[in-house]
Amino acid sequence: MNKLRPALGIFGGTFDPVHYGHIKPVIDAAQQAGVESVAMLPCHIPVHKDLAPSAAKHRLAMLKLAIECYPQLYIDDREIHTSAPSYTIHTLQALRAEYPRHPLCFFIGMDSLHSLATWHEWQALFDYCHFVVCCRPGSQTTLSKELQQLLNERQVMTNNALHNALYGKIFLADTPLLAISSTDIRQHIQQGLSTNNMVDPKVRAYIQTHKLYQPSTTF
Ligand code: ATP
Repeated sequence: MNKLRPALGIFGGTFDPVHYGHIKPVIDAAQQAGVESVAMLPCHIPVHKDLAPSAAKHRLAMLKLAIECYPQLYIDDREIHTSAPSYTIHTLQALRAEYPRHPLCFFIGMDSLHSLATWHEWQALFDYCHFVVCCRPGSQTTLSKELQQLLNERQVMTNNALHNALYGKIFLADTPLLAISSTDIRQHIQQGLSTNNMVDPKVRAYIQTHKLYQPSTTF
């Protein structure tokens, strides 16, 4: 059998705005998973959220600023530049066609693992990628029967398994617990509270300059 190529990381999100709870866990998780580069994949229209996100140009600009000092992160803008809702399965199918011999590692927070069964064609996702899961405070602590069964079938304890197969495994990374969400940040800004420990200073300056997340702002 042909040797596999280096694993590629993918970290999808709305990033409205990107915050330390995205960047720090994913950097640690990538290191633990032995994944050298991770594509940050901002979605165009999130499928799981009710609120329309901020303009793509702002979310992209903030993401660029936030990853400037992390050479292992880069932006894949394929979803944000389409006009349709972003379904992970379709993006993974496109990536698989482009990278037939690279294991694909999709990074998610623990809350997303708990809600995985609500994703479009969720079971088929395991035919395209592994999941690398970051800890997230506030996520449920008890596992549903289905999730426990999924972990029994797919969880791997060492990162070798992520590099010896193209897809199908789950790796739980031991990452710092950062109780930050984009929702909190938007609310803090609306209420005039500080977001100092939540957001990169360059992103904070961008938000101020462009007056994002103000109570009356429409985009
Ligand atoms: P919102 O508050 O608008 O719902 P969010 O902060 O949850 O946004 P998203 O862009 O929706 O951020 O999340 C993208 C991915 O990042 C998801 O897999 C989510 O689980 C993960 N994530 C977000 N915040 C954290 C955090 N603080 N710790 C670990 N993972 C996180």
